[in-house]
Amino acid sequence: MARLVIVSNRIMLPRAHGERERAGGMAVALRDALRARGGLWFGWSGETADATSTAAKIAQSGRIQFATIDLGRADHDQYYNRFSNGTLWPLLHYRLGLLEFRQESLDGYLRVNEAFSHALRPLLRPDDLVWVHDYHLIPLAASLRKHGAANRIGLFLHTSFPPPALFTALPRYEVLADALTAYDVVGLQTEDDRANLSSVMTTHYRCGTTARGELDLPTRRVLLCAMPVGIDAAAMAEMAETASAGSEQRRLVDSLVGRQLILGVDRLDYSKGLPQRFEAYERLLSGFAEHRSRVTFMQIAPVSRGEVRQYRELRRDLDRLAGRINGRFAEFDWVPVRYLNRSFSRQTLAGFYRHARVGLVTPLRDGMNLVAKEYVAAQNAGDPGVLVLSRFAGAAHELTDALLVNPFDVDAMGEAIHRALTMSLAERQARWRAMMRPITTNTAVAWQETFLKLLQNAAAATAA
Ligand code: UDP
Repeated sequence: MARLVIVSNRIMLPRAHGERERAGGMAVALRDALRARGGLWFGWSGETADATSTAAKIAQSGRIQFATIDLGRADHDQYYNRFSNGTLWPLLHYRLGLLEFRQESLDGYLRVNEAFSHALRPLLRPDDLVWVHDYHLIPLAASLRKHGAANRIGLFLHTSFPPPALFTALPRYEVLADALTAYDVVGLQTEDDRANLSSVMTTHYRCGTTARGELDLPTRRVLLCAMPVGIDAAAMAEMAETASAGSEQRRLVDSLVGRQLILGVDRLDYSKGLPQRFEAYERLLSGFAEHRSRVTFMQIAPVSRGEVRQYRELRRDLDRLAGRINGRFAEFDWVPVRYLNRSFSRQTLAGFYRHARVGLVTPLRDGMNLVAKEYVAAQNAGDPGVLVLSRFAGAAHELTDALLVNPFDVDAMGEAIHRALTMSLAERQARWRAMMRPITTNTAVAWQETFLKLLQNAAAATAA
């Protein structure tokens, strides 16, 4: 079997004993994939230095070899803070108004991708399957090809992908379009994302597609495929059951004194629709007075990308909103909103998910949203909670039995929360069973097997 090489911006280095796992759905899915098969994981060390490393540091843990480079401080700022998170992230989440473009940031982005390929190229064996992840590394395959790599190289884009009218607003978008043509397979979360990318590429290159969905370019074929990322549902269910007997769970349950828990778990990111969610909860309390003093909304929101201006502004807005709702509705013995800017281990989260009567997952746009799937997998079959889910999360394509909402409509979201809180046990169970089907079928392992089979077959097709 060909060796698997995974390349991603951040890698999940083995933890020192007792260290907490960092937040980040993609890293968890990749680690599970590599644990199952073994191979090399290449990425940024998470460290900055005066200059970007020219060679990788290697470490081994179990079946996984880790290779990392440090990034120069200026490179890191242009590549990560500015182009990846200040330009591409808003663009890929349909937020043109937040997009900031500077030629020097694009240059930094290309330079770091070149540094990645320079350090990775000597580690590659001829038959390695190279699987690149996410928007930080779109130009990587083109760089590797320039350095003579003839490997099969695939990309999975974990974010959503916008329609052509939005994507082509990016100055110099053709640099990214060209970079994408160096891949053999490009995987996307949903059929909508796939169709959007296909439309950008067929229009730009004036090319057609084959019956299999490959872009039929003059020089090569690139397979575009929708394959939603999954979770390890059985492990999540087990974690949730174990956690429900744990001390943190006990403290949570005691603190609620019988109130129903409404739970949100998201990185503090403007794509997650947090201000709208807080307002929806406020509408619930103002429009359905029977829930006052009877529910608690707990929003876990670890701070992310604090170096980017829009994230700092969002944090200020949410502090204000949480304060307003608590100021308006709190009683001397009840605080309506518990707003926590910290992260929890997935074990602890699993227990919290299981205890929550309502899981609120209402992003304005999200590639997938693993929290939605984790919440469902963690439920108790005998008394499951209800998932209120944004139509604009990739997960909504599979979890059609959630209460689907438009996150821009805060009144309707408030009503959906009311409906979730008052839903009969029979309906909760029927919806939960229906949602468990895709979650237990399309697991993280099934997802990576699907992708790698396509990549392997692309190799066979080219070699034939
Ligand atoms: N997560 C965590 N601790 C936290 C908050 C989140 O471990 O305090 C994990 C969560 O379990 C999930 C991931 O981070 O696996 C978030 O993935 P998702 O796809 O929902 O969002 P992303 O952060 O990738 O945009």
